[in-house]
Amino acid sequence: MANTPYPQSYYAASANAVTPRPVLQGEVETDVCVIGAGYTGLSSALFLLEHGFRVAVLEAAKVGFGASGRNGGQIVNGYSRDLETIARRYGPDKAQRLGEMSLEGGRIIRERVAKYNIACDLVDGGFFAAFTDKQVREMAHVKAHWETHGHSGLEMVSKAEVGRYVKSDRYVGGMIDKLGGHIHPLNLVLGEAAAVERLGGKIFEQSRVTGVDMGANPVVRTAKGSVVAKYVLVCGNAYLGNLLPKITDKMMPVSSQVMATEPLDPALIEEMLPANYCVEDANYVLDYYRRTADNRLLYGGGIGYGGQDPANLTGVIRPNMLKTFPQLANTKIEFAWSGNFALTLTRIPHMGKLADNVYFSHGDSGHGVTTTHLLGKILGEAVTGHSGRYDVWSSLQALPFPGGTTFRVPLTMLGAWWYGMRDKLGV
Ligand SMILES: Cc1cc2nc3c(=O)[nH]c(=O)nc-3n(C[C@H](O)[C@H](O)[C@H](O)COP(=O)(O)OP(=O)(O)OC[C@H]3O[C@@H](n4cnc5c(N)ncnc54)[C@H](O)[C@@H]3O)c2cc1C
Repeated sequence: MANTPYPQSYYAASANAVTPRPVLQGEVETDVCVIGAGYTGLSSALFLLEHGFRVAVLEAAKVGFGASGRNGGQIVNGYSRDLETIARRYGPDKAQRLGEMSLEGGRIIRERVAKYNIACDLVDGGFFAAFTDKQVREMAHVKAHWETHGHSGLEMVSKAEVGRYVKSDRYVGGMIDKLGGHIHPLNLVLGEAAAVERLGGKIFEQSRVTGVDMGANPVVRTAKGSVVAKYVLVCGNAYLGNLLPKITDKMMPVSSQVMATEPLDPALIEEMLPANYCVEDANYVLDYYRRTADNRLLYGGGIGYGGQDPANLTGVIRPNMLKTFPQLANTKIEFAWSGNFALTLTRIPHMGKLADNVYFSHGDSGHGVTTTHLLGKILGEAVTGHSGRYDVWSSLQALPFPGGTTFRVPLTMLGAWWYGMRDKLGV
């Protein structure tokens, strides 16, 4: 396979030392074979190595090649659906269990950054920006409900106070999460990979898995080699392709675009984002942005159902950036890229088993920086025989997209158009 490079992103250009890893050749024997070196796979790998298991990770391209090395870098707590919606859909008991775990992903990131000394520009604090009074009321409702599950880091922000977090006249209020934050996502995943190797784990790059032979000791095959393991964890998320069609019909790759400006005058970016919190707005197709360590504005948004990139990567997000910060009209955009996340119909991650010893987790539906760290750990727990939390997650029913693989994209676009119109009309 050709040596797949990272996309030309700000992250790739500012990555800490990238160590090329070997291609899998011949047969390797191990306890656990992980497919995919993103946050989910490496979170499982770290947990298992810390618990004495031997681990081999197979990555089709490079560590962090997928969403984990391209995302907005926003540490957003909770899930893509709020806990009240989860309670309505799955019942209060399951919502209670998910509520107990809703801050753990962020904690895992902070613990690992400290424990493994990962340099990834970690900053605390996130702001959810509202365009309408209705969105403010919805945030207040989410806050009240989440507080019953123990979240004490949320505070409502009035219109007069918005300027403490973002100097833009687009918003009528919002909510902060002091336990949110932001990171350089590629440096986080590279640091996690280095920690895996320090603990004795093996990572093979340019080693796309082409098949998994199920059995008492499953065999995971690539073009040049194979791994014989006791357990397999499938963590390929939106980049899995058709490897395991049984699970991929319940998720759809969706692309989102991100760009980074040239470095701004520190006084200007400080005026725009005074608290250095990351910001995401409350629209259905949302904008998300933050300051980088070298004073760029990193701005994301836009959406491509099915994982298609638009011809012009900045076509949607640059005009949106200028609506938020008109003062950047003459600012150069130095980087623009896109990546795919995995969407499920319920917006709740899909976790389960393909066989007694072959587990999978994917579908964080756009809010995966924290969730993947949690769910990777829970896959690891299941392998160690502590399957209580795995049982909760795997019991949440995942539904196939209406329209199958042919019509799921147009049907989802229709739904998104409807919600987008509601946002535009403020209803
Ligand atoms: C543009 C963008 C912006 C985002 N912004 C945010 C944000 O700000 N905050 C947030 O919370 N979430 C965000 N997300 C979502 C978040 O990045 C993802 O949920 C998360 O990174 C998914 O991690 P993962 O490990 O499950 O998958 P990935 O990081 O995609 O990793 C999967 C890996 O598996 C490999 N793979 C696939 N198939 C095979 C195979 N057959 N053999 C071997 N390897 C294989 C891939 O090459 C890839 O490296 C964003 C996503 C995108 C795309």
